[in-house]
Amino acid sequence: MKFTRPRLPYSTADLEPVISATTVEYHYGKHEQAYIDNLNKLIEGTEYEDMALEDIIRKSEGGLFNNASQAWNHIFYFFQFNPRGQKAPAGKLADKIDEQFGSFEEFKKKMNEAGATLFGSGWVWLSSDDKGQLYITQGKNAENPITSNLTPILVFDVWEHAYYLDYQNRRAEYLNRIWDLVDWAKIEERYGL
Ligand code: MN
Repeated sequence: MKFTRPRLPYSTADLEPVISATTVEYHYGKHEQAYIDNLNKLIEGTEYEDMALEDIIRKSEGGLFNNASQAWNHIFYFFQFNPRGQKAPAGKLADKIDEQFGSFEEFKKKMNEAGATLFGSGWVWLSSDDKGQLYITQGKNAENPITSNLTPILVFDVWEHAYYLDYQNRRAEYLNRIWDLVDWAKIEERYGL
């Protein structure tokens, strides 16, 4: 099997009480494993077999795109969390957020709004272009800003499987609380400017 599910750098209970151990076990353990298994089956014996995951996302469509992108998106989502991480942006990223959104609080409101108003399943992204300009976008289903030539730096999963066990239909509450888990040292590293 080509792609594997990387081991998380924290234990499944470490994200509690914001995200329960059960949600991490199902969401990363089972949903993500299924996307990776499907991806591996779909690329077997095809031109995609030896491609990097990002290239598969750029070049594929349909079922392969959906499974490849979901595989990538979940790794990106779970690896941005650290309950003992840096609680707010600093340096150039903090300055850019203030410049474009007014303040960190206003920026969080915009992300939460984008997450709450996305109809159905998908992702809310913060990305940057090659000049460091920031973009908040909604992605339906498996959509990923990589296909628009943007560099993703932060993402919230708003598929129901991400929050339903812990918050039921209260997506806005999940979005309000998930900020406590984001490690801004990681987000700054992804911003890379
Ligand atoms: Mn998910």
